[in-house]
Parts: sequence; C-alpha cells; structure tokens
Amino acid sequence: MVTRVYHHPDFAGHVTPPGHPEQVARLAAVEHGLSDLPVERHEAPIAADDEVLRCHPAAYLAKVRRAIPTEGWVALDGDTILSPGSLAAALRAVGGIAAAVDAVMAGQAQNAFVAGRPPGHHAETATAMGFCLFGTVAIAAKRLLDHHGLSRVAIVDFDVHHGNGTQDLLWDEPRILFASTHQMPLYPGTGRADERGAHGNILNHPLRAGTGSAAMRAAYDGHILPALEAFAPEFLLISAGFDAHSADPLASLEWQAEDYAWLTRRLCDLADRHANGRIVSTLEGGYDLAALQASVAAHVGVLEERGR
Ligand SMILES: [Zn+2]
Repeated sequence: MVTRVYHHPDFAGHVTPPGHPEQVARLAAVEHGLSDLPVERHEAPIAADDEVLRCHPAAYLAKVRRAIPTEGWVALDGDTILSPGSLAAALRAVGGIAAAVDAVMAGQAQNAFVAGRPPGHHAETATAMGFCLFGTVAIAAKRLLDHHGLSRVAIVDFDVHHGNGTQDLLWDEPRILFASTHQMPLYPGTGRADERGAHGNILNHPLRAGTGSAAMRAAYDGHILPALEAFAPEFLLISAGFDAHSADPLASLEWQAEDYAWLTRRLCDLADRHANGRIVSTLEGGYDLAALQASVAAHVGVLEERGR
C-alpha cells in the first residue's frame, strides 16, 4: 500500500501577522521535507459543518464564521488570529483528516499525513486557543467511532505543548485513549499527570525543560507505549507537532529529527500489532523552519517506509 499526504493551497490562505510563529512559510518547510518521498498526494476537502459538530457546538462554529474578517486580521485572543482565508483553511484541516481516515479505513492507503494548518489541539469545546480553531484530531477520533464503528482509538500527541483542547473534547470518552508528552511548565499550563479523564482515558507525561533524546525515549518506552499496548487501539492518530526539537523558538526540549523517526517506528510497530498498521498523523506545531523540514522528513519518511 501507500502513504497519502493531504495538502491544499487554501492552507496558505490562513495568514497571520508578521512575526507570528504560526506562519504561512511553515507549509513550504513541510513540503520541502516531503519532496523526496514517494507519497501519494491528495487535496484536502472542505469539511461539512456536521464534521466540526462532532466535537463543537453549532453556536461556536457560527461564532467563528461570523468573526472572519473581510480583510486584515481579527484576534480571537492574544495568539489566535483570523484572516479572510482562515475558515476555509481550518475546515480543510478537518476535512483532510476525515478523508485520510476514510482512505486508510478503506484500505486505499496504509497511513497518511495531513500537511495542514491552522493546528487544532488547543481548541476547546467552545473556545479557540493557541493558534487553533477546531479540534481536528479529536474530531477524527470521533469519526472513527461514530462513522466507522471502531471501539478503541488512540491519539498520541508529541507536540511540545499539552493538547488541552483534545483533552477537553475527549475527557469523558472511554473509547479513546489520549496520550501526551509535553514540556511542563509551559503554555497552556495543563497536562499534569493527575489529569486522567473521567474514565482514566487520558495519559499525560510532562517532561522537564532540557529533556533530550535518551530521556524522551525512556518516557515513551517506560510510560506511553506500555499504556498504548494495554489499550490495543484499532486505529492510531498522531498529533504531530515538531516544536520539541532543540532548535524550536517556543520551547526548551532537546529532541532531534532522528528522535521523531525513532518514535514513529515505535508507533508503527504498535499499530502493526493492534491496528493493521492504520495510522493518520496531522501537523500541529513546529516553528523553526529548518527543524520542521527535517523532522517532517524523518516522521513521514518512516510512515512511507512502513506503509509499503
Ligand atoms: Zn506546540
């Protein structure tokens, strides 16, 4: 089989002000990282409203739609910016992961990566936050349960920031295991180990500033992977943020591109054992452009190698 990559020109239509780290130029870095890989490319479709409503109330979607400016920018909070193209981009991020999930479930691809923006894992039920509008990975997990009829889906979030939004959206969902490593203390401030979800379905493993390759690998081998193994997911989703890289300007972990390859191999092994190798990964953070390019190449390179 093959690895699919979902992208679309509309992802560049979400424009942030000069100096904002979540910038259009990230897309070119990602595309450069993917350029040598024999992946199958597809355009990310616009999600129907109902897809967003799997996790967000209609009033929230309407509020975002109303807030979109006809020109310039509107700030929903200090970090989260809307430009005229932001809604189309965010709806294609949701639509792209839905299409990726459908293709992998249909056996048209072994795995897939959604090269979209804005990211999603900070968006809470009715609150945009931290560059994020809609909880794309949580929505995809709900789609796997409610549309595809699966009973156990796991999400691994290796972005350096805690996925507070994913945690909020899935707090009371025992059929989804949400596992996250993240720097602490750091934005957004959540993600303590004692935040476990209503059914013990959330696993937070905070890491101290300076955590490098050896300690990161020990955290996954010692804590995250055994929990995933016990849960035996039928499908694995990845919130793939690359801002734990040592070069990232927003955080202070010391991961290298090779660590993303190592972790992706471990996750492919797990998916092979429990989920017929089914993995869909979606872009979250990663703000140093050279590190982003190298890390995406490492991550998707392993997906492609293992998807053959
Ligand atoms: Zn992040």
